[in-house]
Amino acid sequence: MNIILFGPPGAGKGTQAELIINKYNLPHLSTGNIFRAAIKNQTPLGQKVTAILDAGDLVPDQLTIDLVAEELKLDKYSNGAVFDGFPRTVSQAEALDKLLAVKGEKVDAFISLDVEEEELVKRILSRGQGRSDDTEEGIKNRLKVYHDETAPVQAYYESHDQAFEISGIGTIEEIHNRIVDVLSRSSSK
Ligand code: AMP
Repeated sequence: MNIILFGPPGAGKGTQAELIINKYNLPHLSTGNIFRAAIKNQTPLGQKVTAILDAGDLVPDQLTIDLVAEELKLDKYSNGAVFDGFPRTVSQAEALDKLLAVKGEKVDAFISLDVEEEELVKRILSRGQGRSDDTEEGIKNRLKVYHDETAPVQAYYESHDQAFEISGIGTIEEIHNRIVDVLSRSSSK
């Protein structure tokens, strides 16, 4: 099963992804985590993307798509994945469809977490993870990039009839239960 957790920065994608991977025994594919690990380990990829992440801009599509293509070749993704933070542009969404088609798979559910902007800023500033992009400037830019480049991804999936939107407001458990509910509906579609 391939699940995309979608939403603006601060919507809770990472938290909810952790719960879903445990429940469904699926691997987590977070491009943000991969980039941060590369930066920490000072790999060539890390050096290329450090300034981009700090500014809250998007890593170029081709670099991101190539990375996901390589990642999806690993055995651990043989039963699907929970995608978190990918796809973030329509080009990435199109590329993912193709990558999955090669494996005889598809996106089984696209779940968008809906949280209003004021709440997002509050959450990011209070999550205190010490991320280098969690500054007021970084957050502002990430939200702008989300509206300009990432939000259109939702329309892409809506036209594919696999999209669900749920409220991202509530306790972690309430939101998790909404996701589980949506997944039980998508598997019976
Ligand atoms: P995240 O952990 O998903 O919030 O991602 C953190 C940062 O990594 C983003 O602000 C981007 O700079 C970069 N990033 C993560 N995923 C992608 C992606 N799919 N496309 C482009 N840039 C990405």
